[in-house]
Amino acid sequence: MEEKGTVVAIISGGLDSTSMLWFLHSKGYSIVEAISFDYGQKHVKELDAAKKIIRRFNSEFSQNVKHQVVDLRNVGRLIAKGALTGNEEVPAEMYDKESQRITIVPNRNGIMLNIAAGRAVTLESRFIAYAAHASDYSVYPDCRPEFIEAMDKAIYLGNLWTPVNIIAPFQKMTKKEVTQQGLALGAPLELTWSCYKGQDRPCMECGTCLERTEAFLLNNTRDPALSEEEWQLAIQKYEEHKQKG
Ligand SMILES: [Zn+2]
Repeated sequence: MEEKGTVVAIISGGLDSTSMLWFLHSKGYSIVEAISFDYGQKHVKELDAAKKIIRRFNSEFSQNVKHQVVDLRNVGRLIAKGALTGNEEVPAEMYDKESQRITIVPNRNGIMLNIAAGRAVTLESRFIAYAAHASDYSVYPDCRPEFIEAMDKAIYLGNLWTPVNIIAPFQKMTKKEVTQQGLALGAPLELTWSCYKGQDRPCMECGTCLERTEAFLLNNTRDPALSEEEWQLAIQKYEEHKQKG
């Protein structure tokens, strides 16, 4: 396989970034480091998931990818707003509803991409990657192609002697298609965590849980992170919310 270059990958421990790791590997990219961010989100379970996923990646592909958790809790405090880092409740509504804007962390992807770019220069890595996808456009402007293109240009120009570019391989895919990629590549989706609430098990009702259920349903597959009983409940909740319109 053609060697495509080295990548610092931003991973959250969720379904999208896990699928992206397996996808990049399948395309011949070499992951040099995986970075996760602790910005004081309520759902730190993501970070535990990320750790397990990197361990799996390393053992499956005989790699030695280091997992960095960048501590942004101080920054997180300054930009605490909305439901993920502030005091607001996570709304139990479909992921594309305007109510989901409360789950925005101000300029999150811009901050994470800039830190990853600095790290890439330090490691002499050619690319940084993140798993923005099309189902997030309506709520999160920092997942849209226009943003990715502008950030890519800024990061490239800002590091001109040691250029870094952004890879966002899923930017035109829906969540269903991203999940399809992950399933086809055998990514360990059973290890991933998506729920925005910091409970022991997924709530099945926040925007990201509902979106996840939909993605697996559209792929005719049970969410491998859930027990059969939880999966039935997830479908029931999804159908209830879908009916509400
Ligand atoms: Zn949830």
